[in-house]
Amino acid sequence: MHILDLSIKEIHQALINKEISVLELTKEALRRAKEDKNNAFELILEEQALEQAAKLTEIEEDNELYGIPYVLKDNFSTKDILTTGSSNILNNYVPVFNATIVEKLAEKHAILIAKGTLDELAMGGTGTSGHKGITYNPFDDSKTRLCGGSSCGSAAAVSAGIVPFSIGSDTGDSVRKPASFTGLVGIKPTWGRISRYGLFPFATSMDHVAYFTRTVEDSAILLKALAGRDEKDSTSSDIKVDDYCENLCNTSIKSKRIGVIKEIIDSIQDQYLLKKFNTLIEKIKLDGGIVEYVSMNEKLLSVVLPTYFVISCAEAGSNNANLDGIKFGVRQDGATYDEIMKNTRTAGFSTLIRRRFIIGSYVLFSENIKELFLRAQKARRLIVNEYNSLLENYDIILTPAAPSIAPKFDFASDKLSSNYLIADNHLGIQNFAGLPSITIPLCLEDGMPIGINLTSRKFKEKLLFGISKNIEDLTGLSNLSINNRKEGNL
Ligand code: GLN
Repeated sequence: MHILDLSIKEIHQALINKEISVLELTKEALRRAKEDKNNAFELILEEQALEQAAKLTEIEEDNELYGIPYVLKDNFSTKDILTTGSSNILNNYVPVFNATIVEKLAEKHAILIAKGTLDELAMGGTGTSGHKGITYNPFDDSKTRLCGGSSCGSAAAVSAGIVPFSIGSDTGDSVRKPASFTGLVGIKPTWGRISRYGLFPFATSMDHVAYFTRTVEDSAILLKALAGRDEKDSTSSDIKVDDYCENLCNTSIKSKRIGVIKEIIDSIQDQYLLKKFNTLIEKIKLDGGIVEYVSMNEKLLSVVLPTYFVISCAEAGSNNANLDGIKFGVRQDGATYDEIMKNTRTAGFSTLIRRRFIIGSYVLFSENIKELFLRAQKARRLIVNEYNSLLENYDIILTPAAPSIAPKFDFASDKLSSNYLIADNHLGIQNFAGLPSITIPLCLEDGMPIGINLTSRKFKEKLLFGISKNIEDLTGLSNLSINNRKEGNL
C-alpha cells in the first residue's frame, strides 16, 4: 500500500519519519486525481498545490494536517479560484475571499489539490445532477451504481484513495448518505460547531459543514482543527471546542446507552443489512453496551421528507435570489431587469433546481404560507421534540444510514411508499435538530459498502467519536478504500 492510502494520522507519522516528503505525497495525490475515473472533480489545482507543497519542508510534529492533501466541495468559496457550485449559472464566478474553513486548513498547511463536484448547488442526493454529469461510485467497477450526493466528488475522492479527507456540506444527508455508499466515515457536527462563512447557503437553518475521512480518529483530528467560533458567521457557536482525540481509544462502550428506533428498522427490506446490523448489536452487548429498541411516532417519521422539502425549498429560493445575472451569475440579454433575470435564471439553472425554487415560492405565497410553510415548521418542531426526548434516555441513537447499498442509476422505487419514506430519509431529522451525526461503515454486500449512523446530543461529539471508535473496532472496517478493500468482521 502507498503511504497516501494510510490514514491522516499514519501519513503524518510517515512524514515525521521522512519516509515521504510533502511534495512526493502531493504529486501522488495529483497523479491519482488526474487519473480519476469517477468524474469527481470540477477543477484540479496542480500548480498551486505543487507550489505550496514545495515550501513545506519543516514538518510540524504537533500538527497532523501538515502537508496532507485534501479535496473541497465546489460550493465553498476559494479566493481567486473558480467556484461554481456545479451550476452553469456560476460558470464564471471567482470569489474574492476564502471560506473560513479554507483559511483554517491553509493555516494548518493542509494542501487543497482539487475542487470536488456536487449535485447542482448541493440540491440532490444522487451525484448525477451537477453540470459535469454523473459521478460514479468508486467501489463499483461496472460503473452502474451511484455515489450518492450531494457531496459526490468529495466522497469519490476519498473512497478512491486520492486524498485521505475531503470537505462537503450536509443539509439533509449529503455527506452521511454518500459516506454509507462509498465506505467512508462522514460526519456533520452540531449546527454552529463549524463556521459556515463562505459556504454557499442552500437551506440555512439546516446547512452544516461536514466532511469525509476513512477513520474515526481522523474525523476527530479534523473537528479539532475546524471547530470554533468565527466572528464572520454569527450562527457559529462559542461553546468551548473539546480535545476530541484525547482518550479517544479509551472510551469504552460499556454501560453506554444505545437506542435503536424500531420503526426505522421495520422500514428496511434488505435482509442482509438487517442481519449484519443485528450481529453488530450482539457484539456491542457482549462488550457491555446497553442496546434498547425504542419507538418513534411513525407518522412523524414518514413526514420527514415532505417537511424537509417545504422548508429547504423555501430557504433555497430566498438564498439563491442573488443569482440574477446582475449581482452574480452568467448574464443573459434582456431589455429590462426582469427580462435579464428571467433569461439568466432560465438558462443558468437545470429543471431540477427551477422546480425547487417554484416549490419554494409556492409554499411562501401569502395564501399558502399558513397551510404549507408554517405547517412544515410545526411538523419539524414535533419531529425534533420527539427525537430529542429519545436522546434524553440514550447516549446514542443507532440506525442504518441507508436502506441498501448504493442503488443502480436506473433503480426505480416507489418514492412515496411508507417504507421508502422512512428508510431513505430519516437522516434529515438530525438536520432539523442540528444534532451531531456520523456515518461509519458496517459491512460490505456484493463488494459494495453499507454504513450505519450514530447521533448524539448537541455538542457531544467527543462521546460520539468515542462510541464510533468502539464500533469501528468491532466492524474491522477502518480505513476502507478501493485500494484497501476488506470484508470486515461482522
Ligand atoms: N438529498 C437532499 C436533497 O436533495 C439533501 C441534500 C443536502 O444535504 N445538501 O436536498
